[in-house]
This record gives sequence, C-alpha cells and structure tokens, in this order.
Amino acid sequence: MTHYDLFVIGAGSGGLAAAKNAAKYGKKVAIAESERVGGTCVLRGCVPKKIMTYAAGYADAFKEAKGYGFKNSYEFNFAEFAQKRNAEIDRLNGIHISLLEKSGVELIMGKAKFNSENSVEVNGKTYTADKFIIAVGGTPTVPSTQGAEHMITSDEVWNLNKLPQKMVIWGGGYIAVEFASIFQSLGTEVSIIIRRDLVLKGFDEDIRKHLQNEMEKRGIKFMKNATISNVECKTSDNKTVELDNGEKIECDVVLAATGRAPQTPDIGLETANIACNNKGYIDVSSHLLTSNANVYALGDVIGRVELTPVAIKHGRMVTNNLYGNLNQTVDDASPTAVFSSPPLGVVGLTEAESIEQFGTENIEIYTEEFRPMIHVLSERTERILMKMIVHKTKRTVLGLHMAGKDAAEIIQGFAVAVRAGLTKEQFDATVAIHPSSAEEFVLMKEPSR
Ligand code: NDP
Repeated sequence: MTHYDLFVIGAGSGGLAAAKNAAKYGKKVAIAESERVGGTCVLRGCVPKKIMTYAAGYADAFKEAKGYGFKNSYEFNFAEFAQKRNAEIDRLNGIHISLLEKSGVELIMGKAKFNSENSVEVNGKTYTADKFIIAVGGTPTVPSTQGAEHMITSDEVWNLNKLPQKMVIWGGGYIAVEFASIFQSLGTEVSIIIRRDLVLKGFDEDIRKHLQNEMEKRGIKFMKNATISNVECKTSDNKTVELDNGEKIECDVVLAATGRAPQTPDIGLETANIACNNKGYIDVSSHLLTSNANVYALGDVIGRVELTPVAIKHGRMVTNNLYGNLNQTVDDASPTAVFSSPPLGVVGLTEAESIEQFGTENIEIYTEEFRPMIHVLSERTERILMKMIVHKTKRTVLGLHMAGKDAAEIIQGFAVAVRAGLTKEQFDATVAIHPSSAEEFVLMKEPSR
C-alpha cells in the first residue's frame, strides 16, 4: 500500500492544476488517469476546437480577401489539417506529462475507484491518502433516440478524416453553435435542430437573437421547436434524419451536441460516502468539499460552471486552502466566450438577470449595433452587437455582452473592469482606441432603454 498527502483522480485541467500546486508545497502527490493526460479541454475540447476555429477563420478570410483586391482562391485539404491538428494534441499531451514529471507528481495510468472512505484502487493496487480530489470531468450525452448509434458526439468529431458535405447538428448549446460555425465556414452545409426558438439558453436574449440571425445569414439552417425522432443510415456517408414534425434531412454526419453528464459512475462514490445530486453531479460545499471530509471535487464533475479556467482556479483554490492556510470559497461568476461565427464574449449579468436582481426601473441598457470596418470592403454583411447593462443609481456596469469579431479578446480585458465594479462614468472617462470595435464600450452615450 502506498500513502500520499494528496491523491487526485483525473488528469484534466482541474486535476493537473491541483496536483502540481500541491507538489509546489512539497507534498507527496499522485494523480490517476484512465485515458490520456490532458482531459477534455486539451484532448477533445477547447484546444482542438480552437484550432478548428482558426482554420475556419482562414476560410472566411480567404473569401473576404477578394473585397480587398486579392485574386487567388485557396484549396482546403481537411485530411492534412486534421492530421496536423491531432499531432499538435499529441504534442500537448506529451508536454503535460513532462510537466507532471518535473513537478514531482506521480502519474498512475489506470482507472481509480474508491475501495474505502480513504483509499482507492488502481489496476488492482490500493493507494491511501490524507486527502483526495475528484476531477474526472464529464462526457457527452445523447438522448435515447431511434438511430442514436449513427450519431457522433464532440468526442468522435476528431476522427473525421474528410470534410462532411452535409451535417446535422442536434442541440443549441456552446458545442452546437461552435461546430456549426466551424463546419459552415469550411464548406459544409449545416442544419441545426433546436427544441426551442433560440440557441444558447441562459445567454442574453439580444445576443442570442443576433447570433442566430448572423448564423442564418451565413447559410446555416435552423429547424426550431423540433427534435430528432430517428436517424436512418443507408451508408456511412448517407443518412436520413427524421424530425418529430415529419421533416427529413439527408446528410453524411449527425453530430449530437445535446449536453454532457458527469463521469461519476463506477468510481466507488457510495463506498467512500460521497453524495451526488439527482443528476449525478457530486455535491460540494463552497470550499468544494464533498460529504466525505477528506475528499474534494471540482471541474465538470460538480456541474456548476463547466469551463476550463474555472476548474483550474478551483484546483489551485483547494490546494492553497489545504496547504497554504487560505480560506477561499468558490465564486461562480466568470466571463465566457463562445467561438461561434461571429464569436460571443460575455461578462456579468444578462438583462433578464439584472431585472430579476434589481428591477427594471433600476437598470439602464446601452446597445450599439454596427457593421465593423473590416467588412466594409470584405462585403460580408455581418454586424457587431455590443451591449452594456448599468445599475441606474449605483452606476456600476453589471454586464457586458458582445457578438462580433474578437469578442473573446475584447471581453477578457473589460472583464477586469466589470469584476472591479467600475462605473459607467469610469468607462466613459477612458480614452477610446480608434479605430477599433472595442472603443464602443467607452463611447456609449444614450441608454436605449
Ligand atoms: P449545453 O448544455 O451548453 O447545450 C446542450 C444543448 O442540447 C442545449 O441546446 C439543449 O437544449 C440541448 N438538449 C439537451 N437535451 C436535449 C434533448 N433531450 N433533446 C433535444 N435537445 C436537447 O451543452 P454542450 O454539450 O453544448 O456543452 C457542455 C458545456 O461545455 C457547456 O455548457 C460549456 O460549459 C462547456 N463548453 C464551453 C465552451 C467554451 O467555453 N467556449 C465550448 C464548448 C463547451 P435546451 O437549451 O433547450 O436545454
């Protein structure tokens, strides 16, 4: 039996951050991983997706360059691109392994399962520890549907070795709109099936409408208030998707982007007396402690904010609290971006959340909608929407929302100001950088409502 100060289960973003930080305090740390080191973000999420977004951006830019006098057209070789993208993921996987080695964390490859309240078993060997962190992440879920076996998810999309000609995407969340945008830009004909009117439930309504409208302008088809009832597979490249409203769509790939579930089954939670909620997410306190006083949980497995930087922050928080005598608690407020076309950047409250918290009479809404300068010559008709929500009497900026080129980069900067609780007048006192789109956030004059 081997004993550790800390045993981390899951070498994704949150688990790696926690393990390496604990090791910095001189602790004896092990991390168990059943697949590959890196987790969803590095292996089949944010990183390969962002590489796809860059490829899509080149495809868009080559089309738009004609408006600037460029004459050449460019041929895209998807198989070559996919091979290079996958090689980069392998490289990053290797870097994460070597960073673990350098930090002194012991990597144990295999599936860890609690076999008592204070021990886990991996590959038949038992390990004990003073403290454990569960950071096993989540996995895509597909609603039980006839023909579901003919769909792929965001885990399998990386195995495509040719560009789909026609793709049906089921769902209207982050993953659905991002892949719809990527594949449409690369040349695929994309249809999205959503069970409501608008994509991205929970985002600001104006932003949702703007994004959906821009995606439609690009040629993405939306089947609203509909769901998939059957997928018939004639050949691997020829499928028929049947909707509950009777419509049929021919395609070669069906991507289910219908949400994710925690990877809690089969890790011995009951044996370790670790409680979950009714969706299978591990229940945690504001210190991320589970119902077992020696076990913490963080990242997608707790089902709060399923974002990589939040998992990393929480991994460091737990280990700083344990070994650095801190007493930090979780703060779920976090800026976010959706790498759709156009991309979204968001920080703070939506209009609906602001109204709920402060009442309509206490908020001011500022909006600017315009065609960005780059598209005047490119002839793309895409427009930017920027929205600011201000507390009428306190004057603090409650939320910033942007749909448009560079939204993620712009909102990351402004997120500091929103987090610091700066006022509309402090925004206004900041000199604009001209010409830019970001300058609109310091130039908004009259509230629109
Ligand atoms: P989301 O929860 O964001 O979206 C799931 C979508 O599937 C929703 O539109 C939902 O509809 C729909 N859906 C769920 N169940 C059904 C059903 N039974 N029938 C029909 N439609 C259904 O999940 P994703 O998988 O897109 O993403 C998971 C998480 O990963 C995100 O929440 C995000 O935290 C993270 N992520 C972050 C990214 C980023 O930071 N850029 C990128 C990708 C993922 P409805 O709206 O009606 O519920």
